[in-house]
Amino acid sequence: DNIPTPGQYFKGKHPDKKKYSRMSEKISWTASMVYKILTSYVYTGATVGHKRKSGGVGSRKTISQKKEDWIIVEGMHEAIVSKEEFELAQAVIRGGEKNPKRNLRHYPLKGLVCCGNCKRALTRRKLRNEGGYFYQCTYSMHDRDTECPVGERYSEAWIEDTAYKAIGQMLTLVEKKAVKEHEISKRRKSAISECADAIRDLQKQYEQLKAVKLRLYEKYTSGSITKAEYLKRKAETDAKMSENEEAIQQGHQRMQELDSEHPCSDERLDAVLGEYQKGEGLTYELAHALISAIYVHGHDSIEIVWKFKDIFADAEI
Ligand SMILES: [Zn+2]
Repeated sequence: DNIPTPGQYFKGKHPDKKKYSRMSEKISWTASMVYKILTSYVYTGATVGHKRKSGGVGSRKTISQKKEDWIIVEGMHEAIVSKEEFELAQAVIRGGEKNPKRNLRHYPLKGLVCCGNCKRALTRRKLRNEGGYFYQCTYSMHDRDTECPVGERYSEAWIEDTAYKAIGQMLTLVEKKAVKEHEISKRRKSAISECADAIRDLQKQYEQLKAVKLRLYEKYTSGSITKAEYLKRKAETDAKMSENEEAIQQGHQRMQELDSEHPCSDERLDAVLGEYQKGEGLTYELAHALISAIYVHGHDSIEIVWKFKDIFADAEI
């Protein structure tokens, strides 16, 4: 019926927002989207709150609440479905429920693997005979009129292996960069102390020149030098002093420049490096710390979208 999916509706209403911006123009509903709407009590006109609660101070995670703990306020807005319709839908859903405890296990690339064509998450399925899993674009299964790879299956082992190798290469580059940065920071520190020494010397010279000037004046007032000679030598000393002052000024400026060169280091990245060096293979933590998405374009083409773009910017692989 050409009804947009929630994601497409959002995209149409907020074209400037990043959320859903990569979503395909093509309308493709999935069973899980319909399920979410059918089971949403909000459509009966109520508001439903406290479905999740905070994971505690400092935690960004929220914890799902039991249905008994939800706070439901009836009649808060116009209903789209009646309560009877809603209950009927729940009865139908319960009747057809086969396996309520679906695969909730964490696997390393959970939520990361997407179709290179439609940019939607690929569906993960167990291979019937062998032990492993494969990924497949759901839209290519339901829709024959699509550019998504119809009938193609991508082995999870292959995607995990490719991602793990890529992570290894990335982290090697990051390590090299860290070593280089350590060198730079060492050089910067010695430059700062040299600069400080130079400024101290210049300041000492300045004090000496001031003393020279004072002595000249004393010589002149005691009559041991002429006024002409006094003025000449005073002018020479003044010139040296202003030269000296300028050098001090430059020294301070250089110092400020050195101070503003902050060596780039990312504690989170250090933690990831540690996780990788444990050598436990591809873990959920490792994958999700580094990768924001994996687009599968074909059996020999995987695109990895990294987090930490700034650090990886000059390290294309
Ligand atoms: Zn697709």
